[in-house]
Amino acid sequence: MRRLLAILVLALLVLAGVWWLGNLPGVVVVRLGDITASARVPVAAIGLVLLFLLLYAIVRLLLGLVRLPRTLRRWRGLRRRALGDRAVTRALVALAAGEAGDARHHAGRALRLLGPVPQSLVLVAEAARLAALPGEAESAYGRLAADPEAAFLGLRGLIRSAIEREDWAQANALAARAEAAHPGAAWLRAERVRLAVRSQDWSAALALAGPEAPRAAFAAAAATAATDPSEGLRLARRAFEADPALAPAALAYAQRLRESGREGRALKVIRRAWSESPHPDLAEFALSTVVEPLARMRAAQELVAENPTHVESRFLLARAALAAGLTGEARRHAEAAAAGGLDQRRVWMLLAEIADAEAPEGGGVAASLAALRRAATAEPDPAWRCGVCGAEHASWHAACTNCGEAGSLNWRGPARSSAELLAPRLSGPAVQPE
Ligand SMILES: [Zn+2]
Repeated sequence: MRRLLAILVLALLVLAGVWWLGNLPGVVVVRLGDITASARVPVAAIGLVLLFLLLYAIVRLLLGLVRLPRTLRRWRGLRRRALGDRAVTRALVALAAGEAGDARHHAGRALRLLGPVPQSLVLVAEAARLAALPGEAESAYGRLAADPEAAFLGLRGLIRSAIEREDWAQANALAARAEAAHPGAAWLRAERVRLAVRSQDWSAALALAGPEAPRAAFAAAAATAATDPSEGLRLARRAFEADPALAPAALAYAQRLRESGREGRALKVIRRAWSESPHPDLAEFALSTVVEPLARMRAAQELVAENPTHVESRFLLARAALAAGLTGEARRHAEAAAAGGLDQRRVWMLLAEIADAEAPEGGGVAASLAALRRAATAEPDPAWRCGVCGAEHASWHAACTNCGEAGSLNWRGPARSSAELLAPRLSGPAVQPE
């Protein structure tokens, strides 16, 4: 409504102007040399307006001609940009679909149309990776790494390439540069832990590891590798406090305590670890300084005092009793271990030894043979086995040397099914109290 009113008012004003102009009296005379032209004022006014419009149009046309190259350049730029954007989209789709040839084609087109900007370089690098052309990928990542804004992207690609080549020194150097370019990135942190594990730099792995990482394993390995005794002791205590049930952590701590002359404290650590999760290496450490068989039996009893009915405790007492000539005690404990579910070769071999010791003149042959037959069909003895790939290791490592998984080694028998591979660490079922 307002608009309509405005148009009406404008039309009235124009009409009034035309009417006023038409009624203007007088004549305009223009004399140019000998030529004289005259017109009525209204006609002259309209001619003046037309002349102005013509001049204006000529000036605009001339300006347009002067600006033509720039306009054409801008138009071509916009067109390249639109085509480049389309090539980026197509390259992304091809990458997502895993079509290496198409991805390389469209990424190359994006690079030609858009120039070496981060998005085209990333696409060229990723397409080359997909096409298994590491040299081409690394060249594009290298160009990205030189861009101050996108350096992290380039370094990330170069780190991945170095890891694939298993060049740990190069990967570590690149990771340090990436940390400087983009401090505190979660991906980089996880990758640096992986690198530290691969290069067995346990102190670095421990320093970088988050709460979900196997920190006790890292600390135990770092403590064992430490050359400075006080640093070794500090790391070992940290490992033991993080997981008292991890035998290698307890052993590392106890060993450092023993080296510093604190034997009583070392044995206390071993007893605590045994109460959490018994392991034969703990018993070996605790009994290593005791020679006399009866004294070893007493030391074993002391060690298992807080966990006396565990099958490992039973097995240890049986072996110590047999060594001390206490065959009755030995049989009682060995049979309790077997009854408690420890159906392993070592138990039946020990029972065969006990049978032989009970009747030295050969009277126990039948019992010994029966035990040996059971040993043949019993489960294999426990060992350090990877919970991820199932590989067996002669000694404990903070990371599986087969699959590289950190903190995956468990003391156990071989897994019967793949589901068991992922089960938590176990050291054999506990015997119910008598
Ligand atoms: Zn493994």
